[in-house]
Amino acid sequence: LSEKLQNVFKGLRSKGRLSEEDVKAALKEVKLALLEADVNFKVVKNFVKTVQEQAVGSDVLNGLNPGQTVIKIVNDEMVRLMGSETTEIALRPGSETTVIMMTGLQGAGKTTTTAKLAGKFKQKGKKPLLVACDVYRPAAIEQLKINGEKQGVEVFAMGDKNSPVDIAKAAIEHAAKNGNTVVILDTAGRLHVDEDMMQELAAIKENVDVAQTILVVDAMTGQDAVNVAGTFDEKIGIDGVILTKLDGDTRGGAALSIRAVTGKPILYAGMGEKLSDLEQFHPDRMASRILGMGDVLTLIEKAQEEIDEDKAREMEKKLKKAEFGFDDYLESMNQMKKMGGLSSILSMMPGIGGSQIAEIENAMDEKKMARIEGIIYSMTPQERANPSILNPSRKRRVANGAGVDISEVNRLVKQFEQSRKLMKQMPGMMGAKGGKRGRF
Ligand code: GDP
Ligand code: MG
Repeated sequence: LSEKLQNVFKGLRSKGRLSEEDVKAALKEVKLALLEADVNFKVVKNFVKTVQEQAVGSDVLNGLNPGQTVIKIVNDEMVRLMGSETTEIALRPGSETTVIMMTGLQGAGKTTTTAKLAGKFKQKGKKPLLVACDVYRPAAIEQLKINGEKQGVEVFAMGDKNSPVDIAKAAIEHAAKNGNTVVILDTAGRLHVDEDMMQELAAIKENVDVAQTILVVDAMTGQDAVNVAGTFDEKIGIDGVILTKLDGDTRGGAALSIRAVTGKPILYAGMGEKLSDLEQFHPDRMASRILGMGDVLTLIEKAQEEIDEDKAREMEKKLKKAEFGFDDYLESMNQMKKMGGLSSILSMMPGIGGSQIAEIENAMDEKKMARIEGIIYSMTPQERANPSILNPSRKRRVANGAGVDISEVNRLVKQFEQSRKLMKQMPGMMGAKGGKRGRF
């Protein structure tokens, strides 16, 4: 999805002015991209309609060009659709016990997420009790015990001879004696939505004072996840959703649809198998991720404030003419430093991953910067201006001059090429105000 949308917006960027037809054409592409991302058809239809109404009818926003305005509307509407802000799991006040029931299909990630949540509550100074209500698979009880131990929280289990209702009741009694104010029930899933499971969950809800029913869904199942959420909400009533395996989901379609279909907030996002891989769900970040745009607007604002505009304009010209050399590279590294932490800027860029950020951040280290400077100053002005002439024998000479290994020179040249590519991708990053508005 991200790639697709980036292409769409690249199209908008390069046009400068945006007509009504442009809005329609862009939204047609957005629509296709969203459908491809497995977003619920009705949600897509409404989404596109809303954005179109807003985009065509409204003025171009202050300080933005038409393309940016459409992007902003698309982004805002996505955030709105996903719930606008983060939602916490509501706990009962004081010493009252909050019983949380985890529900979902088999393999969705209930047991793992139960243990992950326990860690979060523990961090907040609570004393959670995890309860093994999955009585169909002995391995499930064992799994919860192991995970509970890893988290340093108590697990309540009674084997597989009792009903989930009885186990839950006994656990709550135990919790009252033991001072556990949060009780999390890990229930049994089924491979598909079925009557047995629903009845079992309904029975727990009827006989136990469940404060929060949380549905755990696998984001990678996309459209299915949305159907599951709809059915669970209808049959047993859910208070919130946790989306797991978002680390493996490149489409993001489920996140966009679930809130719209159920009206229930997404509380957390599972980002991996480790018990620490649970993050608060941020609709704005998710929208950025789905759009694959990063916080491009914020980035432009930042760049606008800090970059020396004349220098930037000049550098951009050079970039365009591929005259961007090592002297400029040094200059641009210093400028980026001025903009406050390279990683904060890079993380806002679309299409740049953690490992790339780490690599570049690493190169920005003060000491390494000095070495880089040393290498660059050992180059002839011609080599600095035109790095492509750096053949192996020139590189060896430079390495000797700077007193470093030739591999370090090679690394720098590679990094330089990467950075040059990166800067070309950054819309408006190196440009002056006027230029930015014109192109984005
Ligand atoms: P349950 O049947 O609903 O209890 O599901 P489990 O908790 O046993 O999880 C099923 C599988 O999904 C396990 O292998 C977990 O490690 C894995 N899993 C759970 N959550 C995540 C997540 O957020 N990301 C990834 N990559 N794997 C997850
Ligand atoms: Mg389980």
